[in-house]
Formats: sequence, structure tokens, C-alpha cells
Amino acid sequence: MNLDAYQFDWILFDADETLFHFDAFAGLKLLFSRHGVAFSEQDFEEYQLINKPLWLEYQEGTIDAQHLQLTRFAAWAKRLGCSASELNQGFLAAMADICQPLPGVTELLEVIRGHYRLGIITNGFTQLQQVRLQKTGLSEYFSLVVISEEVRVAKPAPAIFEHSLMLMSDVSRSQIAPHKVLMVGDNLHTDIVGGNRMGLATCWYNPQGHPRDPAVLPTIEICHHDQLRQLLS
Ligand SMILES: [Mg+2]
Repeated sequence: MNLDAYQFDWILFDADETLFHFDAFAGLKLLFSRHGVAFSEQDFEEYQLINKPLWLEYQEGTIDAQHLQLTRFAAWAKRLGCSASELNQGFLAAMADICQPLPGVTELLEVIRGHYRLGIITNGFTQLQQVRLQKTGLSEYFSLVVISEEVRVAKPAPAIFEHSLMLMSDVSRSQIAPHKVLMVGDNLHTDIVGGNRMGLATCWYNPQGHPRDPAVLPTIEICHHDQLRQLLS
């Protein structure tokens, strides 16, 4: 496994579970504790029964970000007598409060920043992105942050990658060809499928050793960011 045949200009990262730990249960517990509610594991399971299918619909482009954000909190809003929008904002604020970079991320970025331009392409929500980058001190590493909620199309759709390539070309002041970009992400069906379709090189970050899918082949697979640091430095 190596990347010797490639000469990248840009490294693009997914955000959640690639750069940052996204512990939704911890975030929800913090959110609801602020409303005087002890949020249980069973509550979390029930939340995920609604939340997970919404994410699939969002990735397929059949619903928009706002619909996802409000629908997932509709039942709790009714129960607590507040708005779903308020709960969603509280959740994103709680996620920012508990955010942590994943192991090896800072070391990786520190080493590769001198060799490549770095960007983020995320299906996460606008409210969380900048505050999280500021809080963790990672903001300075990235020349570009592309957020699906703003582009109004989510990974794996080609349009968000095309948009990103256009913005990268603007930043670099030269046309960036897809094969000059490495897309790093933990999700085979959004990051890797989307990158592959556009002709980007792809790196599947798979720390938990999820089974491979013969239909979705990344250029490389890593289980720790130290591996990518060695491959790119
Ligand atoms: Mg992810």
C-alpha cells in the first residue's frame, strides 16, 4: 500500500469521525441535562430510530438539512414544550462543547501542512463547523471548508465535489485536476463512493476494522492517522 504514484496538491478531509470524534450520545446527554432531563441509552436508541433514516434520506438528496434537524427533535420538543429548532441548536452547541480531535489528527496536519493545501468537505451542519475548528485550534490548517448545508447538496453527490474542485482551483489559482486530490474519510458510502466517482484518490479511515465492501474500493485504507502521516511525508 503506497501513494508513490500520486502527486497531490490537495488533501480533503471529512470532519465527523475522521478529524473529530462525534459522540452523539454524550452531546445529547449534555443537551438534555441543560433541560433538566436525564437522557438514557434507551432514549438514545429511540432517537437513532428516527435520526439514522433521516441521514440516509439527506445523503440521497430527498430531504434538506433543515428537515433533518427539526424532524429528529420533534417528539422531544413536544414533550419539553420548546421548539425543535431550539433543541437542534442546543445539540450543536453541546457537540461543540465536547468536541475532540481524533488521535493523531493534529500530528498529521502539522506534518502535511507544509506539503499540501488542506480542506474539509462535510455533510455536518454549518453551526458546528467554525466553532469546532476554532475551539480545537485546527482552523489554521485549512484553506477551505465546504459544508453540505450551504452547498445544498450532500456527499456522495458529484455536485459537492465539483463545487469543491472549483473552490480549490480558486484558492490555488490554477485548475486542480481530480487526481491531484486525496479524499480522506471514514464513510465508504459518502466519502469514498463520492471521491471515487469524481476521479479523486481516496483514503478510507477505518479505525474499527469494519468489513470491506468489494463494490467500493478506496485507493488506500488506514486504521490510524499515523499511517497517513508516514505515507504523505
Ligand atoms: Mg464521517
